[in-house]
Amino acid sequence: MMLRRKITVNKSDIVKEIKRNNTREQEVVQALKKEDRLIWEEHGIVHMEGRIYVSNNKKTREKILKKNHDLVDMGHLGQQRMLELIKQNYWWPESKENIRKYMQECFKCQQNKVQHQKKVGELHPLEIPQGPWQGISIDIIGPLSRSNRIDAIVVIID
Ligand SMILES: [Zn+2]
Repeated sequence: MMLRRKITVNKSDIVKEIKRNNTREQEVVQALKKEDRLIWEEHGIVHMEGRIYVSNNKKTREKILKKNHDLVDMGHLGQQRMLELIKQNYWWPESKENIRKYMQECFKCQQNKVQHQKKVGELHPLEIPQGPWQGISIDIIGPLSRSNRIDAIVVIID
């Protein structure tokens, strides 16, 4: 079982930034014009199904990604958790794709990934020997489900 702590990320400075630079994607402008009940504007902020629409500004969106990924007291969040956290407050087209890319480019996360992979052990192809008995490799495979009191196989290659 995984224990989950409720995370709250301060968003007042983000809201200020959205108001300052309010460039909107065409699809958002169109949706607003339609006066759909799912999207509305209030005090210069567009709300989409209860979430704050983040204006089309790379810096603001990156700030949100960082704030919701690299948490001071919890470390770096995984993709799913990060997506959930952002979805609680914000919305913008392609946010999912941006999150995925952000994770891929996070240096610390990539380093962690490499370390985890190394622990599993890498497979190396065997060198081709010059003659018989120059190289012997033994593999023990098991435990397997028992058959005639045998539950493992030894493979010897010379
Ligand atoms: Zn990271």
